[in-house]
Amino acid sequence: MAYRSDNVFAKILRGELPAHRVYEDEHTLAFMDIMPQVEGHTLVIPKYPAVDLLDLPTEDLSKTIQVTQRVARAVKHAFSADGIMLAQLSGAAAGQTVFHVHFHILPRADGIDLRLHARDPAEPEVLAEHARRIREALIGPNDPER
Ligand code: 5GP
Repeated sequence: MAYRSDNVFAKILRGELPAHRVYEDEHTLAFMDIMPQVEGHTLVIPKYPAVDLLDLPTEDLSKTIQVTQRVARAVKHAFSADGIMLAQLSGAAAGQTVFHVHFHILPRADGIDLRLHARDPAEPEVLAEHARRIREALIGPNDPER
């Protein structure tokens, strides 16, 4: 499948659609999933225009996974999570719905199940508050790269 620059994450990258951003650098962007499966559900994307994991150059993959680890630490801290689940869906058959490669960061806690994938939008004020908590954790003492 060819990359299409009208996908929603490409629009977020270009600033054409809003997003609750938590981290950005030259190569990557992290923001809140608009239909979170759990509180704190965050997405990390490379700026490189790849459809899925399989066509992402290894250098961009390397930068993206490093940022994913860093943001995941912040998410774990911000939501006092017991664990972190990463998800990466490549291809419609695997459940991918947005065709710009991304990693899902899902904070997990005992007894809290995941909601259905890409189903129920969260309130913007709630996402804004969650993004604020993660940004705060990213500059806090738990972030070794601060
Ligand atoms: P996929 O199914 O491709 O692995 O995941 C796409 C994710 O993007 C879903 O979890 C869905 O909730 C999220 N999503 C879809 N549209 C938007 C949007 O416009 N903004 C944000 N922030 N997330 C979106």
